[in-house]
Amino acid sequence: MSFDIVVIGAGPAGLCFARSLKDSGLRIALVERQEEAALMTPADDGREIAITHRSRRLLRELGLWARLREEEIGTLRDAMVLDGDDRDGLMFRHGEAGKEQLGWLLSNHAIRRAAYEEVAGLPEVERITGARVDAVRTGPNGAEVELDNGETLHAQLVAAADSRFSETRRAMGIGAEMRDFGKTMLVLRMRHQVPHEEVAWEWFGHGQTLALLPLHDAHTSSVVLTLAPPAMRELLALNDAALEAAMAERFQDRLGAMSVAGPRCAYPLVGVYAKRFVAERFALIGDAAVGMHPVTAHGFNFGLLGQDLLARELRAARAAGRSIAAPALLARYERRLRLATRPLYLATNALAGLYTDDRRPARALRKLALGAGARLRPFRRLVMSGLTAEQGGVPAPLRLLRRPRPA
Ligand SMILES: Cc1cc2nc3c(=O)[nH]c(=O)nc-3n(C[C@H](O)[C@H](O)[C@H](O)COP(=O)(O)OP(=O)(O)OC[C@H]3O[C@@H](n4cnc5c(N)ncnc54)[C@H](O)[C@@H]3O)c2cc1C
Repeated sequence: MSFDIVVIGAGPAGLCFARSLKDSGLRIALVERQEEAALMTPADDGREIAITHRSRRLLRELGLWARLREEEIGTLRDAMVLDGDDRDGLMFRHGEAGKEQLGWLLSNHAIRRAAYEEVAGLPEVERITGARVDAVRTGPNGAEVELDNGETLHAQLVAAADSRFSETRRAMGIGAEMRDFGKTMLVLRMRHQVPHEEVAWEWFGHGQTLALLPLHDAHTSSVVLTLAPPAMRELLALNDAALEAAMAERFQDRLGAMSVAGPRCAYPLVGVYAKRFVAERFALIGDAAVGMHPVTAHGFNFGLLGQDLLARELRAARAAGRSIAAPALLARYERRLRLATRPLYLATNALAGLYTDDRRPARALRKLALGAGARLRPFRRLVMSGLTAEQGGVPAPLRLLRRPRPA
């Protein structure tokens, strides 16, 4: 079978990419190893995704936002960073950015469902589900994708969105920087007595990192706990009542009594950055290109940005009658995505390293950083504008660190 583009992986990035090419005139095959039923009603994986203003604009343009139910959208009004036993932390307030809120929180399975619903109605996208990619070959005249059902797909371009542990990336000979933080992250929806007031918490305690992500209901949040794997195994072995008591204690009872309200989902923490994002007739998107540590909540936001960058290039090439696999086009995509993601990828890894290190120097440095963060306007501008910038092509985080020129 022949297509213009074969997309590998129907996760949030692959689905959004296919949707971004609607009405472009390009024929797309979307290959996913999960069965169709699993895409139609994705399992709750516990992840609550913090969405920036730019991402919300993209989700609106793609039609996904309109498919979300009201109770699936949480408001992220303000955010607070706490260190150790401090009562007051570093506060990021929506007012400073001149916005009504810093961002939104959406369940990953709701994003996946909405994206699937959008793509399912597109005649130009052929979904090939329950099929795994076995091999990819690209050359000057075209690309071939071999599936485990014996079928071979032919295309002008292959886009791989097959997760941070992308097998296709490896098969194409593209290496990746990987940083294993040696920790496990538990995400768990919980009800709590004290309302969250739409404020997210990031709390760096000794031996643990805790976060609280406010959901639509004022008394329900996603609790995110990072621990060393042995401690996490012990916690996960507890029954609900014991887990609830342990969580209330970890939060020093600041939220009152807590009860389990969702599945327990644990993830190993590994950051991944591909050495290259493109090769001949080949591009990486989503986590396959940049797999972020979740502490700065940017993985999907970057995935959305990257697929948009590539889709715009492809639409423009198609409209002008140029090749959609031209090396110059792919190089431009790679350059722009790298510029947009590299500084925050490095900063996130540094932050994650610093905040999961409980040795004395790291603790002192944290205190210093938090105090300085509260005072340094450039730092605050970097964080706030990463969340609230709405327009603009490629955000260049380093540019934001410079002083604004007087008008
Ligand atoms: C705990 C946690 C919290 C997070 N919080 C945030 C947040 O607040 N904000 C944010 O922006 N991001 C967040 N993220 C990151 C976000 O979830 C990911 O960036 C996003 O889900 C990646 O989407 P993807 O489509 O690139 O990859 P995936 O979701 O991994 O999807 C890959 C797809 O490819 C398929 N596949 C794989 N291999 C093959 C193959 N060989 N053949 C066919 N199909 C294949 C898989 O079945 C899967 O459907 C968080 C992540 C975690 C773990």
